Amino acid sequence: MNKDLTREICELIRITSTDLPEPVEKRLRSALAREVPGSAAHEALRTILENVDLARRNSIPVCQDTGVPVFYVRFPFTMNMVDIERQIRDAVALATRESYLRPNAVDPLTGTNSGNNLGDDHFPSIHYKQVESDELTIDLILKGGGCENVGVQYTLPDERLKAGRDLEGVRKAALDAVFQAQGQGCAPGFLGVTIGGDRETSYAVSKEVFLRDLNDQSPDINLSILEEQITSEANMLGIGPMGFGGKSTILETKIKAIHRLPACYFVTISYMCWAYRRRRMTVVGDIVHYE
Ligand code: SF4
Repeated sequence: MNKDLTREICELIRITSTDLPEPVEKRLRSALAREVPGSAAHEALRTILENVDLARRNSIPVCQDTGVPVFYVRFPFTMNMVDIERQIRDAVALATRESYLRPNAVDPLTGTNSGNNLGDDHFPSIHYKQVESDELTIDLILKGGGCENVGVQYTLPDERLKAGRDLEGVRKAALDAVFQAQGQGCAPGFLGVTIGGDRETSYAVSKEVFLRDLNDQSPDINLSILEEQITSEANMLGIGPMGFGGKSTILETKIKAIHRLPACYFVTISYMCWAYRRRRMTVVGDIVHYE
């Protein structure tokens, strides 16, 4: 598998930016059905869904902020990571020239925008895993800045929340994160929650859970119950679409527990806005498949 995939990866970026996955759109339609016709929440969701349709038909970004591209690459032994990284970076620059991505990479010291979404080694963000398979899989998430701003990490126990080092403490932390966001980050959204890890892995995994099937449940029964409970209780806060009030604030919660240090108990929340842009590309031989 030595073919140059720059064009194909650019197509992955185009689809991700312009064509919201069907399960996400379905959740937004269900949320629309729950809101009172004529209310601000109903109007906000109606406008969002019109934009989703328009973006798909015209192949234009579903939101003007195309976010930070986060790639998850699973590659076979026969592939060279250096080649993959070069092709991904070339594809990102190409997708920016073709206006599927807004130039978003800003030097924090000078304030200069690189103009092509290429920053240092960390922009775009690329995660690698070598696999025993002939298949190359590239998952892409475009993570918007507004929802990135409301991501947060708690260290339990937390005196303010009266949250201890248990699942009840996790529930309190997740609901506090939603309450503090108050619709910033473009609700209705999706929560990615990590229990445990160190500071770095906890944040990384809280985004990685956005790759899970939207309709699945955690294989751990206790986490699966907690996922549903957090979603349902977050929707009782009345924050609603874009913070206008209403029944739909969180459309799904995904939780993963990872091993922690004895001294640390982090609960990390990543918030994904309604523009939950994620797509996958699979390459076997010369066959490229997108989903
Ligand atoms: S948070 Fe999401 S929907 Fe809101 S502006 Fe950013 S990318 Fe767009």
